[in-house]
Amino acid sequence: MATTPKDARATPMLRQYFEMKSRAPDAILFYRMGDFYEMFFEDAKEAAPILGIALTARNRDSDIEAPMCGVPWQSAGHHIARLVAAGRKVAICEQVEDPRTAKGILRRDITRVVTPGTVLDPESLLPGAASWLAAVVPRWRDTPGGAPTTEHPAVAFLDLSTGQFHAGTVPAHRLADLLSLFRPREVLIPEGFEIDILDGVPVSRRPAAWFEQAARGETPSEAGPAGGGFAAAAAARAYAEEMRPGGARHVGEPAPLYFGKRMGLDPSAIATLEIFESSDGSAERSLCALIDRTRTPLGARALKDALARPSTDPMELEARWDAVEELARRAAERQGLRRALDDVGDLERRFARIATGTAGPREVAAWAAGLRAVPRVSSAGAPLASPRLRAILDGIPEMEDLASRVERTIASEPPVLASAPGVIRDGADEELDSLRSLRRDAQGALLAIEAEERKRSGISGLRVRYNRVFGYSLEVGKAHREGVPTDWIRRQSLANAERFVTPALKELEEKILGAEDRIASIEARIYGDLLQELGRAAGRSAKTAAAIAALDLHASFADVAASGRWARPELSRQPRLRISEGRHPIVEALRREEVFVPNDCDLSPEKRILVVTGPNMGGKSTYLRQVATAVLLAQAGSFVPAAGMEMSVVDRIFTRVGAADHLARGESTFMVEMLEAAAILREATAQSLVILDEVGRGTSTFDGLSIAWAIVEHLHDRPEKGTFVLFATHYHELTEIALVRPGVANATMAVKEINGKVVFLRKVVPGGADRSYGIHVAELAGLPRAVTERAREILSNLEKQELDVKGAPVLARHDGESAGEGQMLLFSVSEELVLEKLRDVDVDNLTPVAALSLLASLQDRIRRN
Ligand code: ADP
Repeated sequence: MATTPKDARATPMLRQYFEMKSRAPDAILFYRMGDFYEMFFEDAKEAAPILGIALTARNRDSDIEAPMCGVPWQSAGHHIARLVAAGRKVAICEQVEDPRTAKGILRRDITRVVTPGTVLDPESLLPGAASWLAAVVPRWRDTPGGAPTTEHPAVAFLDLSTGQFHAGTVPAHRLADLLSLFRPREVLIPEGFEIDILDGVPVSRRPAAWFEQAARGETPSEAGPAGGGFAAAAAARAYAEEMRPGGARHVGEPAPLYFGKRMGLDPSAIATLEIFESSDGSAERSLCALIDRTRTPLGARALKDALARPSTDPMELEARWDAVEELARRAAERQGLRRALDDVGDLERRFARIATGTAGPREVAAWAAGLRAVPRVSSAGAPLASPRLRAILDGIPEMEDLASRVERTIASEPPVLASAPGVIRDGADEELDSLRSLRRDAQGALLAIEAEERKRSGISGLRVRYNRVFGYSLEVGKAHREGVPTDWIRRQSLANAERFVTPALKELEEKILGAEDRIASIEARIYGDLLQELGRAAGRSAKTAAAIAALDLHASFADVAASGRWARPELSRQPRLRISEGRHPIVEALRREEVFVPNDCDLSPEKRILVVTGPNMGGKSTYLRQVATAVLLAQAGSFVPAAGMEMSVVDRIFTRVGAADHLARGESTFMVEMLEAAAILREATAQSLVILDEVGRGTSTFDGLSIAWAIVEHLHDRPEKGTFVLFATHYHELTEIALVRPGVANATMAVKEINGKVVFLRKVVPGGADRSYGIHVAELAGLPRAVTERAREILSNLEKQELDVKGAPVLARHDGESAGEGQMLLFSVSEELVLEKLRDVDVDNLTPVAALSLLASLQDRIRRN
């Protein structure tokens, strides 16, 4: 049973504990007790298994009788990182009073709360990945007095670790897409407001009034860059400040989300195209990792952003491709630029820690060293002429003053911790210098006293010792204690030695200790001033970081383009998607020795839907994904793995992979498959690219076939005609749609039969597959010959349309029947519907009139086809 604050047994300490706990109810409270942070009650039970530490039942020293666990303060950072990685929040409650002078129970206070979306500790951050806090705020103003509406909520994304900040509004139905693009580590929403959030992302809630108050602090500038997103921007900033006072000092105005100028990618497309994770969940085998040749963490984060939010602005795309083309062509300049980038380091995150006062002296020195590399980047880029690269290079602000300010202040090999001595360089401050020389002299004076007293007493083993409690003393062995001069004063007795002081030593001690204290406080003051001053350069720092990130990104794209056979895309004014000799970069990379067979694609308003049939494992899915990947890469600003590409801008890539394929990942059901298909049919525009891979597979054959057929027809016929569609299916019957819908073309994966064995050529050729080759594939996979023979036999029965009395195909063995060669020549869809109807008829209870009319309608159905 947990003790409550009202409990009569509650000690003063327990009351204080509950008071602290009530201020951070959703966080695990790290309650400082001496050299430990202790956790109690439910917090302890929750944290102990995550941290792998022992849970104890009671603690006699603490006055709190409860389940508890603790970690030493020195290693707290690592434990906090673990809890945060597990999606928890940690409130740090410190002793804010000196235990030596305090009376009664120590005053304590929560100094900061570490949450997954606001954490700044390097242990909790991945260098190449952003760390977003998302705030989502429904727009109350649109519903005076009513319940908050989720129409066009305001959304903000804040990465405190870098200062990156975006805000804007988004149509409610696109919110999930946006969240899966940014993949925030924490989402902040008002109480009582529900949104679909990615699995496992921690959600923090605040009362509606809290949001209103936060928004009052911000100037709503509808016309401003972030448009209507200010309510969310204000909330994100206020939350960050609440978690860590002063923690958002380096964060400037939010940049607009430009939702309209960015390509839409739904969660399914992000997964299918393996943008950030391969299908087996590995980040290393993702598209992003494959093409990442960046040299700085800034560039690595920029690459992720470019892939998550490709541009749909033709001018922007041309500018990026121009830049990549020039860097790809000028190998020497590119290599020079990349070498210079190696020395820049993480300017952005280091600056964030400087501005929030959490950077140690070594980090500050490393930041300044990084700034020194920036002019080298500029000069390496001096010969470059493309307008985009020139604009970036010429826009890099002067940072020399800040670098030399650091160099003049910080010692050349500073300690890690700001609290350690020796942070500030000699010559930085006159008073510090003179105190330091006083201390040095005192050191000499100590030695002089030691030598003199040794001579005077004749005790050769005499030593000057220092002890934190007793200060400086002269130490002699027990054997000599009777022989010490009379003016020595005894200070301390040890087992084998005695310690004494003299008036001269005492005087010197006061001088030394006074100087130490003074030195420490001057160093702290100078260091604090330095961070404050540097922190004011947030604007310049952000500009420099953005320029470095952009150069690194373009150089990385160019390096990939130059080393493989990649081509610059060309924009087409007319709707067009033409790729010659395209490749799938991931599949190609994984194949190593074996050649990847390149394939073409050509979609235009005349033929804008391609139905790709062919055997399982023929390469259909790879082909579909490679076309979408090329579009994604192009609009991210990259060249594409192809001999050439001509394209019109795509506003959104939709993908839907059939439930059967998805089941391997243990997620989807047929229902989900259909929900996603429905969303695609609802939302795809004339500029969208839709990839449908084996849709309809998650249900029975006839259901699936009918649904697949109807979806293709609908995509072809609907009012906003124009959507480009690639539809892969093993239902070869779908090739017949091309006969009735002019915008549909057929393609198939070429297959060669050699001695009854199937060889996949991986080549996309016009036309349709006339069969599925399933039995051949089964044979290849090593199914026993008896089984495949029998399968052929059953197939042949099916093809002869032999039905039993109930209308089901006869599967039983027919003597003397031999196995056929063809496969699955199905009835047409309408014929199948007729058969199904017939199967269901209850002949015994059918009136003659009803029977006649049924007959007529069935015949009508067949004739209409
Ligand atoms: P399907 O969708 O038709 O079942 P996949 O696209 O999954 O087939 O391809 C099956 C395998 O064939 C892939 O794992 C890949 O290794 C290989 N493959 C696909 N396309 C190519 C290609 N163009 N060149 C070489 N190998 C390919």
